Amino acid sequence: MKQLYMAGLLGAIGMMGSAQAATQTIDCGRLLDVRSGAWRERVSVVVENGVVQSVGPTAQASAGGERIDLSRHACLPGLIDMHVHLTSETAPVVDAYRDRLTADPQDLAFRSVKYAQRTLMAGFTTVRDLGAADGLNVSLKRAIAAGEVPGPRMFTAGKSIATTGGHADPTNNLSHFLSEKLGAPGPEQGVIDSPEAGRQAVRQRYKEGADLIKVTATGGVLSQAPNGQNSQYTEDELKAIVSTAKDYGFRVAAHAHGAEGMKRALRAGVDSIEHGTLMDDEVIQLFKKTGHWYVPTISAGRYVADKARDPNYYSALVRPKAAAIGPQLQATFARAHKAGVKIAFGTDAGVFPHGENAKEFGYMVEAGMAPLEAIRSATLHAAALLDQGKRLGSVEPGFAADIVAVEGDPLRDVKLLEQVKFVMKDGVVYKKP
Ligand SMILES: [Zn+2]
Repeated sequence: MKQLYMAGLLGAIGMMGSAQAATQTIDCGRLLDVRSGAWRERVSVVVENGVVQSVGPTAQASAGGERIDLSRHACLPGLIDMHVHLTSETAPVVDAYRDRLTADPQDLAFRSVKYAQRTLMAGFTTVRDLGAADGLNVSLKRAIAAGEVPGPRMFTAGKSIATTGGHADPTNNLSHFLSEKLGAPGPEQGVIDSPEAGRQAVRQRYKEGADLIKVTATGGVLSQAPNGQNSQYTEDELKAIVSTAKDYGFRVAAHAHGAEGMKRALRAGVDSIEHGTLMDDEVIQLFKKTGHWYVPTISAGRYVADKARDPNYYSALVRPKAAAIGPQLQATFARAHKAGVKIAFGTDAGVFPHGENAKEFGYMVEAGMAPLEAIRSATLHAAALLDQGKRLGSVEPGFAADIVAVEGDPLRDVKLLEQVKFVMKDGVVYKKP
């Protein structure tokens, strides 16, 4: 019933979609073994009920069920983006403010359906959603998991946790009139100013159905506040959040541009630093000592740097921050990679249009990373950061049948990943050549 519904839905919105047969055999011209880094030629992947059963040489005989011919394509594991905001998308400041006055959460929820769809069709079968208001990302995750909306498998932070006036305080820079009407946000809305409130905010995310915790350890570029890099938490607050998160099995992602905020977050035990723009040598040493992950989001840096040249795109508070911080991200990535910091692929999609996530591969390679390492960052390494390393990030028996395919060799030209021709998630085909 669910499969019929999925096929009907996909047909209705004009996408390739096929009901999932119990057994499927995918004949790949070649398959990238992301662990060894080698191509395996003429390989067939047998999938049963959405899970990979076997990977072996293509045989003439059929295993029965559906057979999918990708013999002229190169197959890879479904791609994973560690930093997206699936329920919003960049817009000129005038439109953003109009939305703030006139759009209901329901309006934003309907819009997010196409963002999720675009992301999946671009080959991203799993994402980590790092923050939205009104529980939109949790609801979207549920709708996708139930097969009601086509989109990537989501792991979501729910609402980001910030301090008063911080990068994810939803009431920044409003008029006194509106501030008074809205009242001061608290832990329920993800705004805290003490270790106790930090614990409460984590428990609130648990109650609301989040999968992980996101904190905004420093100022940020796109918030309506003057500083894009200052530390916004005491170390005690961060420690309270991280230790409570561990009680609930949550990992913690920390947004940070300034070095001091990164140090506090890494010492407090967060699992990943997002952006990391102004990291210094001490931060790099802390990364290496703790083994925590760096999620670079070069795409967002380049996009905001570009848009900062348009005097009407961002507000007067945001524009100088975008111009100062955006252009530095790619060089930071290059330095961190060279120093051996563990890197997981993440873009901050939503800050730029959804579906353009794969451009990040080109930016990473341009900054000195080998294509294979860039692909690993979006498969094996991203799965490890999600604590899903035994189920996602590779095409092997027992793993979710998340498979994408391209024409040509992305180890030679990584930009081929911007043109994914085939997308399967959990054994359901969403895009066919
Ligand atoms: Zn973000």
